Amino acid sequence: MNKYGIVLFFLISAILLLSIHISAEAFQAEVFPSLISPGEAFIIKITEAKTSQLPTAFLDGQEFYFSRCGECCFIAIGAVRLESKPGIHNINLEVGTKRKYLKLLVKQTSFPTVNITLPEEKVFVSTENLRRVEIENKRLKSIFQIVSDRLWEGNFMLPLENDISTLFGTNRIINKKKISVHKGLDIKGKDGEVVKASNSGKVVLAEELFFGGNTIILDHGQGIHTIYMHLSEFNVKPEDIAVKGNIIGFVGSTGRSTGPHLHFGVKVLNININPVSFVKLEI
Ligand SMILES: [Zn+2]
Repeated sequence: MNKYGIVLFFLISAILLLSIHISAEAFQAEVFPSLISPGEAFIIKITEAKTSQLPTAFLDGQEFYFSRCGECCFIAIGAVRLESKPGIHNINLEVGTKRKYLKLLVKQTSFPTVNITLPEEKVFVSTENLRRVEIENKRLKSIFQIVSDRLWEGNFMLPLENDISTLFGTNRIINKKKISVHKGLDIKGKDGEVVKASNSGKVVLAEELFFGGNTIILDHGQGIHTIYMHLSEFNVKPEDIAVKGNIIGFVGSTGRSTGPHLHFGVKVLNININPVSFVKLEI
């Protein structure tokens, strides 16, 4: 081999090595929407990922879970807490041996405040009931921490298409002293009106709770749960699989409620999500 041959050999080797390196690096990742409010969800989509392992994604110490969406395609639903600070948040992605950061911008958002006057007996909770609430909350927390296989398919839907009475994130001042933040969406409804499953999922709870009254929780997989409260009746039982749009229960006013309505909640890995924005996500 003459000196030109040697130069050509090294040149071809360098090009080959570079192309192998590029193909190993090559995966596409996007987050949408990339501008959200506190208490909203987002989608991470990874394509052209030549790996057999599921990717991982972390944001502010919280892991979000992927499922497959085709050949070399993975999808995860992430979320930011209602208390999260406005500004740029970095999503740390790991695909095979490769890492990438995606930027998510959380915008400054103000939530409404409402003053509510209730008779004292609607606000007072006895020591015995406080104990009951504590036990129920512990149980709910453990339900929301479970990450099951994906059952959801396509967009989520509102379980009842009526006017909204209280928005997600509303600060409630009750009898001028007690402040609570509304962690779901109140949808107006008539007693007995049908309530539909927001997406396909397993019934992990269908029973009476102190505050929520007759409550259904669906586990959609990947850490996503939807909650339906104050129902008059159930149309499902625990362990049932509800298909998106199926009637799971009926509007009522059970539990701490001042009239028939549906309290609809969405949780992504125990993070409360604004249901109105969640059903707009194009999954
Ligand atoms: Zn509510």
